[in-house]
Amino acid sequence: MALLSKKPYLSIVIPLYNEEENILPLYEEISHVLKNLRREGEIIFIDDGSTDKSFQILKNLVAKDKRIKVIQFKRNFGQTAALSAGIEFSKGEVVIPMDGDLQNDPNDIPKLLAKLEEGYDVVSGWRKNRKDPYLTRKIPSSIANWLISVITKVKLHDYGCTLKAYRREAIERIRLYGEMHRFIPAYAAWEGARITELTVNHRPRIRGKSKYGITRTFKVLLDLITVKFLGSFSTKPLYIFGGGGAIFLLGGFVSGSVLIYLKLFKGVYMIQSPLLHLTALLITLGFQMLLMGLLAELLVRVYYESLDKKPFVIKEKINI
Ligand code: UDP
Ligand code: MG
Repeated sequence: MALLSKKPYLSIVIPLYNEEENILPLYEEISHVLKNLRREGEIIFIDDGSTDKSFQILKNLVAKDKRIKVIQFKRNFGQTAALSAGIEFSKGEVVIPMDGDLQNDPNDIPKLLAKLEEGYDVVSGWRKNRKDPYLTRKIPSSIANWLISVITKVKLHDYGCTLKAYRREAIERIRLYGEMHRFIPAYAAWEGARITELTVNHRPRIRGKSKYGITRTFKVLLDLITVKFLGSFSTKPLYIFGGGGAIFLLGGFVSGSVLIYLKLFKGVYMIQSPLLHLTALLITLGFQMLLMGLLAELLVRVYYESLDKKPFVIKEKINI
């Protein structure tokens, strides 16, 4: 991938939902950091349908500081949607998302940038010393991180940390749904991005309330299934469905053969044997899966062609 320009323009992207007490102190901290860094940048706040004074406070800030941009959602669409809107409207060569509740520390931004400039495309923040409750956050999160690492084959300690740094080109093609913002590094890695981790500071939430409960973990795990499926088989779904279907059909064939053998040579009535049910079930399932695979193949073609998506990512072109 191309080198970053000397002083890349930064886009700091901050989704927030009812964080009225945190916006101003966060803004002060970020401006201070940008000033010391001597970097140009924009700070994009996405008000994810707040019902408190968040939007009013943001509006007042825009009047004061031109670097601030605000997107207000009509209702609460969730942090992932807010992040993807922020990324879409951002202009920076480098995109740095962070939480709006002061739990991430803007003082980590220079470190993340320095690491990115070493030649990485994604620098993932790792809240090594996380200041959150054990039972509802730290334990579920360490299990989730382990599972995500194993399944996506992209090993990171802290997928859930919002504070990360991305080169724009590594993430601009990624579309996000559900709780999927945490999978951005995995998607980017699948497309060939170079990824590293950096420990970042984490602070306890002092003002406002956390917006999540334990149910988030289950949503993340379900999303993981989708991500894995999309990542491994989205261009060739027949390989997975067809593979499964073939195994079922083979099983059905074996159990059917045994059934016929028993009838012909051992005098067992077919209806007496549980194998009859098994054979019928396996053969039906096998055909169903094959057909499902063919349907999925059709869907994939519609998907790629209607969006003009390509099943590959080019690194460089020479003389074309
Ligand atoms: N957030 C959001 N929309 C939501 C929920 C949360 O924009 O529907 C924002 C929230 O304001 C905060 C960030 O996402 O800036 C992380 O949320 P929170 O601090 O509640 O998560 P936790 O740190 O407890 O995991
Ligand atoms: Mg938080």
